[in-house]
Amino acid sequence: MSDGNFSAVELDRIWDGLRVDSDSEIDEEVSDDEISEADSDIEEGRGMKRVEELRQENDESAHLHFSRACRVCLTPEPRERSACKACGHAVCRECADAPTAANAASTCFICTVRSDFVQLFEEKDESNAAFSRTCFTCFSAPRQRAVYTNCGHVCCLACAEELQIKCREDRDMVVCPFCRTTSAFVKLQEELTQDQES
Ligand SMILES: [Zn+2]
Ligand SMILES: [Zn+2]
Ligand SMILES: [Zn+2]
Ligand SMILES: [Zn+2]
Repeated sequence: MSDGNFSAVELDRIWDGLRVDSDSEIDEEVSDDEISEADSDIEEGRGMKRVEELRQENDESAHLHFSRACRVCLTPEPRERSACKACGHAVCRECADAPTAANAASTCFICTVRSDFVQLFEEKDESNAAFSRTCFTCFSAPRQRAVYTNCGHVCCLACAEELQIKCREDRDMVVCPFCRTTSAFVKLQEELTQDQES
């Protein structure tokens, strides 16, 4: 990343437009405000330190390649993929939708947690050769990514966690930065392509 200050300002600008106003439900007379505020300051500090570490990791990951292969049918480059909402494991959309014994009860094929799948928003890069991994909120090449479970939009884990911290700070609900759907997110479980493991 060339200019950290610039991107922080940019991100603030993006997030300012994203806050969902939930003030109407909050009463001013909360008595242990001070205590909880101190607690949340500590928690926020820890959270922001982790966000910094994640961004550092992103900066060092531009050269890495991640596998999109479906671990169920072994299709190397599925056109569409879906991720399990509970664990973040992704398989091709066909496998996620197939009414087989394995997913009859909406169970993750890989870790068997019971949950639904959400289709991932994935776009080809400019060359149209590969699917882009760029985070479209900070424009990094992320090491770890997150998917919003109510809409399937994907961004880097650092952006997802930072947005969550900022929303908590303002007692706002977490919304997807792309479509503004109120949604939790889950870390996507992604593996490096095999020639890079070791
Ligand atoms: Zn598959
Ligand atoms: Zn799983
Ligand atoms: Zn990002
Ligand atoms: Zn979305």
